[in-house]
Amino acid sequence: MSYRIQGETTEWELVCGLEIHCQIISQSKVFSGASTKFGGEPNNQASFLDAGFPGQLPVLNEKCVEQCIKTGIGLNAKINKYSVFDRKNYFYGDLPTGYQITQLFHPIVSEGYIEVETEEGSRTIGIERLHLEQDAGKSIHDMHPSKTMLDFNRAGVGLMEIVSRPDIRSPEEAGEYLRKLRSIVRYLETCDGNMDEGSMRCDVNVSVRPIGEGGYRPKVEVKNVNSVKFVMHAIEIEAHRQVDLYESGNKVLQETRLFDPINQETRPMRSKENALDYRYFPDPDLPPLILTDDYIENIRQNLPELPEQKKARFMKDFGLSAYDAGILVSDKETALYFEDAVQGQDAKKVANWIMGDLFAALNKTCLSISQSPIKAKDLGALVGMITSGTISGKIAKEVFEIMLETGKSPSVIVEEKGLKQVTDSTAIEGIIEKVLQENTDKVKEIKAGKEKLKGWFVGQIMKVSQGKINPVLANQLLEKKLSEKE
Ligand code: MN
Repeated sequence: MSYRIQGETTEWELVCGLEIHCQIISQSKVFSGASTKFGGEPNNQASFLDAGFPGQLPVLNEKCVEQCIKTGIGLNAKINKYSVFDRKNYFYGDLPTGYQITQLFHPIVSEGYIEVETEEGSRTIGIERLHLEQDAGKSIHDMHPSKTMLDFNRAGVGLMEIVSRPDIRSPEEAGEYLRKLRSIVRYLETCDGNMDEGSMRCDVNVSVRPIGEGGYRPKVEVKNVNSVKFVMHAIEIEAHRQVDLYESGNKVLQETRLFDPINQETRPMRSKENALDYRYFPDPDLPPLILTDDYIENIRQNLPELPEQKKARFMKDFGLSAYDAGILVSDKETALYFEDAVQGQDAKKVANWIMGDLFAALNKTCLSISQSPIKAKDLGALVGMITSGTISGKIAKEVFEIMLETGKSPSVIVEEKGLKQVTDSTAIEGIIEKVLQENTDKVKEIKAGKEKLKGWFVGQIMKVSQGKINPVLANQLLEKKLSEKE
């Protein structure tokens, strides 16, 4: 069932679009040479330009342009060879110039899309545009009882604002869109995608309409929702609030609201009825940005592999299912880990160990895969030891636990603990013979037709050998030994 909100008499659908600000990965800011490093001493990374001193001229950072083009290609979008920087004028303490340099009329990228998959199937979410702009500084309200502190380290950091079309129809789709977008910018290394550090920030546009109604009703913009989970929550809550308003005969005001995750509500921030007039105009200090086909083509040729391409390759080269490949590529670190681990190993087994035991262990310890105590090569080696019959699958689980705790390689652990599978049939026969001799009464019962007891014997044999015997081999040899006994 698709996402619907049932009112008293009407069924409603969600109409949602996301505006996402992505901080560009670059050494220096988009129009100044100041560093973009996160977490520095306040105001130590602000040039005169960033601090709004008069007479400073912006110089466009080519790296930021390149990052926008890369991202645009990753979003299946059109790269515009002609784009223009505009001034968006408004007053705020963390914006000392009194305007933000952005792109309104001619963005660098337009008309892209992302394919998202939910339980409903696959849908295309359109992307209207990606434009290049500068970030504002930070106002800090909680350092002094009556004063606001200003930190301009962030002022002038390059941002890509990525605006989707209002194509999203469920909170799940919004979540998937955001995850997919984050995964794309991470693969491309154009933005680190860390929502909790604010390097990726999401504004959510929400409206609702009765099923079948054309056009759009007034939308509410929920500002700065900063995790995938919160985005999905905020949409759900805001959509229900709007349905309740309409159902009770009221109107929805076009306004900006804030999501309060603790009280599970959205609250008004400012009304768009007296929306600011930003007085956009082309920045006289910056000429239009003109790109050549060669320049764009060169970037396209050197683009790293994207998640979709990697998925297709994993399916083709390793024979993985679409589902498994999709999980492994959804996060770049996981994909890299798999590629490291799979070298020379059975791909399906490696994938299963990663998605099963490793994910569970990492989840339990709240570690990301790049912090995994088990190195990719070692997990691969563990799978190799199972494939070669050096250890049994059961012993492998034990070795895995020790690897988690100690970070040691599986071969060292198997050596130290003497866990090697016994494959020498003389040795195995010796163990079987011993177990049979200690249980002659049960052997007689088997001979009398109580076949079920064979399972019990296998269990005993495994116990005596501490699981080091291959159960298939144990079974075969047990049959052989039993047939010898008359
Ligand atoms: Mn913006």
